[in-house]
Amino acid sequence: MSKQPYDIAIIGGGVIGAAIAQRLAKYQLSLVLIEKEEDVAMGTSKANSGIIHQGYFTTKGSLKESLSLRSNKLFDEVCPQLDVEFKRIGAIFCATNEKELKTLEGEFKESRERNVAVELVQDRDRIQEIEPQLNDQVIAVLHFPNAGIITPWELTIAMVEHSIINGLKLHLGFEVAYIKREKQIFQINSVKGQKIEAKTIINAAGVYSDSIAKMIGDDSFNIIPRRGEYIMFDKNSLQLNKIIFPTPNVVSKGIVVAPTMHNNFFVGPNANEIDSKEGINTTTQGLNEILQGGLKLVKKLPIRKHITNFAGIRASTITHDFIIGVSKLSQFVNVAGIDSPGLTSSLGIAEYVEKILQNDCGYKFIEKRNYIPTRKNQIRYAQLSESELAEKIKENPQWGNMICRCELVTEAEIVEACHGLIPITNTDMIKRRLRPGMGRCQGGFCLPKVMKIISRERGVIYEQVTKTGRDSHIVFKRTKNLCSEVFQGDQL
Ligand SMILES: Cc1cc2nc3c(=O)[nH]c(=O)nc-3n(C[C@H](O)[C@H](O)[C@H](O)COP(=O)(O)OP(=O)(O)OC[C@H]3O[C@@H](n4cnc5c(N)ncnc54)[C@H](O)[C@@H]3O)c2cc1C
Repeated sequence: MSKQPYDIAIIGGGVIGAAIAQRLAKYQLSLVLIEKEEDVAMGTSKANSGIIHQGYFTTKGSLKESLSLRSNKLFDEVCPQLDVEFKRIGAIFCATNEKELKTLEGEFKESRERNVAVELVQDRDRIQEIEPQLNDQVIAVLHFPNAGIITPWELTIAMVEHSIINGLKLHLGFEVAYIKREKQIFQINSVKGQKIEAKTIINAAGVYSDSIAKMIGDDSFNIIPRRGEYIMFDKNSLQLNKIIFPTPNVVSKGIVVAPTMHNNFFVGPNANEIDSKEGINTTTQGLNEILQGGLKLVKKLPIRKHITNFAGIRASTITHDFIIGVSKLSQFVNVAGIDSPGLTSSLGIAEYVEKILQNDCGYKFIEKRNYIPTRKNQIRYAQLSESELAEKIKENPQWGNMICRCELVTEAEIVEACHGLIPITNTDMIKRRLRPGMGRCQGGFCLPKVMKIISRERGVIYEQVTKTGRDSHIVFKRTKNLCSEVFQGDQL
């Protein structure tokens, strides 16, 4: 345990808290990241479109505009450092009528003023060349070649791991219940009665950032949860070159058809205000809305190839901009209202927060002498040549035991992940790191095997291995135990 009080405590292990931790971990200070769940990237950072935008359709002079533009560029530097895959495949906004074309022309002009690479295409052949899957009704596209895709939870996990390598203390399962301040030290208390002390707090609690701010008497903003639903399709079921947007409306950038880093593709999200910050269920109405939206953009959607649905919640506010700055209490920094493009802006936000800490909180950062600038991902079966694989199997036969056939994941990889920097306690943690359960069968075949490996490697009773932590039990009881209890030893 690091000596308390910590210099800085970050509340929230989403992509924003992770990016801030990663940025600050290179300096000589004690840093703690506090997260209520059993893993990082369990909130909005695990359920979004994974698009790295290019500053388009943001309000002039807003933080969203400046931070997303700055951040987009930082991905080329940070992703190789973290060993995270990122592809600049480009995004297109489509117009299907003259009114939409006018909107795209306006955005074209604004993007040029922002010095962003952009192209307005109206030539039919060129439109088809850019994206052959486009619907014939598309009359023009606004093409942003530097937009990209990333797997958001992979980025978040990588940033936290890199921070841990450089001395970050990660507190999982610590749900902040209330905060007190005495003699310039914050005491952060969890619902279970644990305490963490820190001189400075960074509030990056996503949809709950308003509740955290209220704990110190700051009620200057409220988060309005806005749900976005998705339909995910099987690998290689539609070959897409680009991220395809409609012409945006005032509420959101609209329903997208886009590829993922792992060759799936998705349609979504819609944007609906809801009452609950936990409302990540999908609805029949919402899924229909998404399909209709997708069909306006592409010629066909292979409905039978859909593999799952999910939803994420935007932490929106009435200002429609990010809220980043020192709160009414000194040394308490809000990083709130981080709705889209928050993933894109994460690296820029971290840089901006670093400046706030220097300018408004009195920090003078000195780089650690033993700072480790890179983090390596674990070796994957799919990356190995036949001879490399044969060598691996000779050393460790677990490399030859295929656990997930959809995503090609072996026992050796799962065992290694179990003993990684963040302690594995549930099956979704393995799913987010290695992808068993993300494929066509959605874990139908591999889930019991993954549970067995976690149980063995982490010393957890099989029945107590959960899906996402807390009470998300997968197995209630073994049938033979249940039968003997029900029939009290009678022969079946
Ligand atoms: C449908 C949808 C699509 C999107 N698409 C994109 C996109 O393509 N590109 C883009 O740039 N952005 C996109 N975004 C926005 C982006 O996903 C978010 O801006 C980003 O994930 C926000 O990260 P965060 O760290 O602020 O929040 P979160 O990821 O929600 O992290 C906050 C963390 O705080 C923790 N926490 C909360 N309360 C407490 C407490 N009391 N104690 C301890 N921990 C607590 C939570 O468990 C959570 O892990 C999208 C968002 C949605 C919903």
